[in-house]
Amino acid sequence: MTPDFVVVKVGGSLFSDKSRPGSLDQQVLRAYAELLAGLVARHPGRLAVVVGGGAFGHGAIRQRRDDDAFGLVALTQACFTVKWAWTEALRAAGVDAFPLQLAAMCTLEQGVPRACPDVLLGLLGRGALPVLSGDCLLTTEGELVSFSSDRVPEVLLPVVPGRMRAVVLTDVPGILRDGRDGGDVLAEVDAHDPGPAYDLLWTQSPWDSTGAMHTKLAALVTCARGGAECFILRGDHTVADLDFLFAPTADLPAGLPRTRIAGVDAA
Ligand code: ADP
Ligand code: MG
Repeated sequence: MTPDFVVVKVGGSLFSDKSRPGSLDQQVLRAYAELLAGLVARHPGRLAVVVGGGAFGHGAIRQRRDDDAFGLVALTQACFTVKWAWTEALRAAGVDAFPLQLAAMCTLEQGVPRACPDVLLGLLGRGALPVLSGDCLLTTEGELVSFSSDRVPEVLLPVVPGRMRAVVLTDVPGILRDGRDGGDVLAEVDAHDPGPAYDLLWTQSPWDSTGAMHTKLAALVTCARGGAECFILRGDHTVADLDFLFAPTADLPAGLPRTRIAGVDAA
């Protein structure tokens, strides 16, 4: 498979310490911004970036009061703070980056995200880079619910042109088969039979409010069933470039550990 469109999600764990309020590693943001600038220059209109909520997003979810049904609105501001930090770093790297408030372009209908894509497509049409994140979304019942950044590829899949690849960069090299300190990465998940992959997951840390690997796997299984090719791999801001993200499946770096989630074989 050769992707027409790539959505890359940069996990909050890569640029923020979720246990420290306000934590944001500007040096890491700058490094990723340079890498993404190269990608946008070489693949204009074919890339969107999704940033994790880090300490901001998870903090806003934890601080919500049970007696304030609409209190989760604070999450949209928290996520926007992170998107804006990324937008500034990307603009400093020469990218026409634009932060999109997911809550203003997407609702949840029976758990399924429905987006109004005009602005997103307009940005892509002029070669700009949409910067997205998780958010609080309005449901058809009028409730606000948190929507993980891991699920944003689900929003993009029905909207972006052509074959989509979703790449989730996180702090582990993929789904590990041999526990927390392991190094044995599950290479393939069959999106139509993900049970064995779920069995490998352990429970989340107390700082996490969005389900960690469980949410990633569920979101990517949904995307893969919809025709996308998906990867989970460790984010590394010290690499020379991220061009492999656009490579045909067969040409991905052989030594790069990753978990691929797809509905069809790599060929
Ligand atoms: P991010 O900030 O990128 O969203 P998360 O902390 O939410 O990262 O999700 C990644 C975490 O998922 C890992 O650090 C790990 O603790 C957890 N995890 C649970 N089960 C597994 C598994 N089998 N293999 C790898 N990671 C796992
Ligand atoms: Mg997470």
